[in-house]
Amino acid sequence: MYHQQVIGLVKGTSHYKVADSGDSAIASSTEKQAMSVTASLPAVRPLRSARWVPRARVVKSVRSSLTISPAPILTKLQRDCATPLPVLRHVADAMAADMRAGLEVDAGSDLKMILSYVDALPTGNEKGLFYALDLGGTNFRVLRVQLGGKDERVIATEFEQVSIPPELMSGTSEELFDFIATGLTQFAQKETGKFHLPQGRTRELGFTFSFPVKQTSIDSGILMNWTKGFSVSGTAGKDVVACLNEAMKRQGLNMRVSALVNDTVGTLAGARYWDDDVMVAVILGTGTNACYVECVNAIPKLHKPNSTTGGKTIVNTEWGAFSNGLPLTEFDQEMDAQSKNPGEQIFEKTISGMYLGEIVRRVLVRMAEDARLFGDSVPEKLLMPFSLRTPDICAMQQDSSKDFEVVGSILYNVAGVNSNLSTRKTIIDVCDTIAKRGGRLAGAGIVGILQKMEEDSQGIVFGKRTVVAMDGGLYEHYPQYRMYLQDAVTELLGDEISKNIIIEHSKDGSGIGAALLAATNSMYEH
Ligand code: ADP
Ligand code: MG
Repeated sequence: MYHQQVIGLVKGTSHYKVADSGDSAIASSTEKQAMSVTASLPAVRPLRSARWVPRARVVKSVRSSLTISPAPILTKLQRDCATPLPVLRHVADAMAADMRAGLEVDAGSDLKMILSYVDALPTGNEKGLFYALDLGGTNFRVLRVQLGGKDERVIATEFEQVSIPPELMSGTSEELFDFIATGLTQFAQKETGKFHLPQGRTRELGFTFSFPVKQTSIDSGILMNWTKGFSVSGTAGKDVVACLNEAMKRQGLNMRVSALVNDTVGTLAGARYWDDDVMVAVILGTGTNACYVECVNAIPKLHKPNSTTGGKTIVNTEWGAFSNGLPLTEFDQEMDAQSKNPGEQIFEKTISGMYLGEIVRRVLVRMAEDARLFGDSVPEKLLMPFSLRTPDICAMQQDSSKDFEVVGSILYNVAGVNSNLSTRKTIIDVCDTIAKRGGRLAGAGIVGILQKMEEDSQGIVFGKRTVVAMDGGLYEHYPQYRMYLQDAVTELLGDEISKNIIIEHSKDGSGIGAALLAATNSMYEH
């Protein structure tokens, strides 16, 4: 596949000796490139990381008689990212052990194992009108659903999405919550047709709030700190449910929050409504997280074993913080060191959508610097952190054209470079390596959760049909990633057991899931 076979690297000089040029036409054009010299580029401001420091970008000069190849960099990357069965097994075992440690005591492990206070899941019998609000990024989504019980199920749903003005993301708590309550009021005014609120009742809302919250009951939780670009004053340390309830009151809106839920928990509840075998939910989007159904008795830090009822509850693992035994590369380490949260969220940084494209970009920069991937200089645009996004690497991997034209045009758009066929093939291999590692590790994480559940109660997951509900843009849109995830699960569990483990996409389950949890936690009888 490559035109040269590198047989040696003279340390410290970056001079590669080439054994066999293979195709003389290509070899000679590479030689011409190889004669070139130093290219220094202007500093580029970082997109997200305040710590990013541009270093002098120098394409090392090589002797004109020699050509160089990105092959050794790719080979090393593939070796460092490899996830053979023993690595997967170690990750699954460590995930199970970390979960157990996190359930023992708070701060007992990388995994926070947060209690969701959701101990009643939707059954399908829920009836009535319920609302949901999802606040977790640059938009908030509002939704209403009319539930008709076992026979009629979801009679109707409607939703609206409102973008949050940037100034409100750094304004005061009252301003932000008043804005949301105003949006909710306008949405509630359009409640017609199939939607019906019985006389004298208060509307009930499930609130999906995807920021770190210390939950204190199903309908209260203290905001620990804002993330994702929000820096609203006066909310940290306060109960976000009280903030929203007060704002709705100020707007004269007859609505109260009856469930505060994490998006992963919402996904589990939404999927469970349709399928009683759903036991785990995983989000693979910008970030990643997972939750599962746990026995109350298996949570020592709860200090109130409910042995008489054998109760169940949903535990939010916050598995993005997992870090044990992951196959990491120098590119991961550099990205982590320059991130806003160095040393934290290592699993998330290895498997989730925010980071896969960035890891690939770092590899390509190295190949451009050390192996002239793009000729004489390192493309300036490619030096910008996060300029190559996960949807880009996904689109490149879908390219089935003979000359990889899609890869060519993405490289042109993202990095401003023209590329030859061999370069395009190398880049697809890099994308595949990073997506494969991410997908397979996510699969190992899922097996770790199932394994923990099975260890506590034999037959609970491996002896019967068990469903893992998946959501998030990365899982939804990246077919190779999905395939690698499934492969790892099958390899780890074997053909027989994995036939029973159904990993399936539950699209937008979390919105309706929050409304369903408002129903299960309703103050009214159904
Ligand atoms: P969020 O996680 O922010 O709530 P989503 O679940 O919609 O939002 O996930 C969005 C993320 O999914 C993006 O940040 C991106 O990393 C990933 N993604 C979106 N589209 C694609 C795609 N076509 N291919 C691969 N990944 C994608
Ligand atoms: Mg989301």
